[in-house]
Amino acid sequence: MGERIGLYGGSFDPIHFGHLISARSVAEQLDFSRIILIPSARPPHKPTAAVIDARHRLEMARLAVAGDPLFEVSEVELHRAGPSYSIDTVDELGRQLGDQCDLFWIIGADSLPELATWHRIGELLDRIRIVTAARPGFVVPDVTSLEAKVGAPAVEKLISDRFRTPEIDISATGIRQRVRKGRSVRYLTPSPVAEYIAREGLYGKA
Ligand code: ATP
Repeated sequence: MGERIGLYGGSFDPIHFGHLISARSVAEQLDFSRIILIPSARPPHKPTAAVIDARHRLEMARLAVAGDPLFEVSEVELHRAGPSYSIDTVDELGRQLGDQCDLFWIIGADSLPELATWHRIGELLDRIRIVTAARPGFVVPDVTSLEAKVGAPAVEKLISDRFRTPEIDISATGIRQRVRKGRSVRYLTPSPVAEYIAREGLYGKA
């Protein structure tokens, strides 16, 4: 059996403990040797203007996991022109990492119904297992449109690939709001990230 690697894409605007704790829990349950964090250049589901510069999001991801052998950060989506699609990322990383690797894609439970809108989702599901971490407030996913798109067997597989992970009620939106209001983001994201946000004046008052 090849090396099992979890790919974890997101806007990471900023990365926070919700991402890190749930990804580590999935990795432990599925025996991943590595998790590759993939900051998205242009999140297809979010307007570009709503997301801060990729260079900051990349740096914060690096700071968050510095010194942790489980996590790596990939720039693969930042060097690609056009919107970032997971299927292209999987193809590219698959080529880089070689055939011996067993790749998985990690999402949070809020993203499960959204898979219906992902580019070439059917192909992506044929190619890799998408594994879902718990997220507070997203217990029973509405998979009606997803089922219409990829069929019942694929949805069943997705549903059974949901994992019990600690439910961490932290969101990047909440962190940005707190910064805007001048509140502390300590204990929501690793200290080096909180310090970077302060130092670079990110998410400040408009
Ligand atoms: P925003 O609040 O800006 O929408 P976010 O906190 O949801 O951001 P993203 O970077 O958009 O974070 O999410 C990347 C991936 O991480 C998604 O699959 C999302 O479901 C998952 N995720 C984010 N926060 C959590 C959390 N607290 N618990 C579990 N999964 C999460």
